[in-house]
Amino acid sequence: MKREFAVIGLGRFGGSICRELSAEGMEVLAIDSDEDKVNEFKNIASHAVIADSTDEATLKELGIKNIDHVIVAIGDNIQASILTTVILTDLGIGKITVKAQNDYHEKILNKIGADQVVHPERDMGKRIAHNIISSNILDYLELSDDHSIVEVKVGKKMLGKTMIELDIRANYGCNVVAIKRDKEINVSPSADDKLRENDILIVIGSDKDISRFEKHLV
Ligand code: ATP
Ligand code: ATP
Ligand code: CA
Repeated sequence: MKREFAVIGLGRFGGSICRELSAEGMEVLAIDSDEDKVNEFKNIASHAVIADSTDEATLKELGIKNIDHVIVAIGDNIQASILTTVILTDLGIGKITVKAQNDYHEKILNKIGADQVVHPERDMGKRIAHNIISSNILDYLELSDDHSIVEVKVGKKMLGKTMIELDIRANYGCNVVAIKRDKEINVSPSADDKLRENDILIVIGSDKDISRFEKHLV
C-alpha cells in the first residue's frame, strides 16, 4: 500500500523532498501559500494546493488528518513553522518532520512534539567540512551532541594492516562496526583481516576520538 505524505513549503528543501517522494511513486500532497510554487508542483505531486498552513480549518479541510507523515519545510518564517507544527501535533498526525532554521527553532520544535527535526544546512556543512579535511571521509552522521558515525575509505597508513595491528579501539577509542568490501558489507569484521585498498570502514565513537582517528589514520 502506498504511504501518504504531505509537504508544506515548496522552497528548495521542501521542493526537493516532494520531487523525490513523487519520483519514488509515493502519494504526496504539496502545500504552499504561494500560487507560483503550487503551479510548479501541479504535475509532480499527486495533489498541489494553495493554502496557509497556519490556518487550522484549512488544514482540516484538506484532510491532513489522514496523512501518515507531514514534512514542514517552511523556511524563514519561523513563527509560521512553529504554529503549523503545533496544529499538526494537536491533530495527532502520525509523524511530523520539520526543518529548523537555527538552534533555538530546533529546541522549540522538539518541545512542541515534532517527531523529527532536521537542520540540512548545518548538517550538510558538517559533512562537507569532514570531507574537506580528508577526501577519504565519505560520510559523517551525528548520533548525539558528542557522538558520531563516520564512513571512511581505508587510508595509505591502514593499507595491508590488520585491526589488531592498528589497534583502533585502544589507540583512538573508536569502534569499527563494519567493513564494506566490493559490494559486501561485513558487520562483524574480524580483527586479523588485512585491510585492502578501497575498503570502507564504518567507525563509531565520540567526536573527539573520531577527530584524532581522522587526523592520524585517514
Ligand atoms: P530553502 O532554504 O529550503 O530554499 P527557503 O529559504 O526557500 O527554503 P522559504 O522560501 O522561506 O524557505 O519558505 C519555503 C516555502 O514555504 C515558500 O515557498 C513559502 O511560500 C512557503 N510558506 C511560508 N509560509 C507558509 C505558510 N504559512 N503556509 C504555506 N506555505 C508557506
Ligand atoms: P543558507 O541557505 O546556507 O543559510 P543563506 O541563505 O544564509 O545561506 P546568504 O545569507 O545569502 O545565504 O549568504 C550567506 C552569507 O554570506 C551571509 O552571512 C552574507 O553576509 C555573506 N555574504 C554574501 N555576500 C558576500 C560577499 N560578497 N562577501 C562576503 N560575504 C558575503
Ligand atoms: Ca534558505
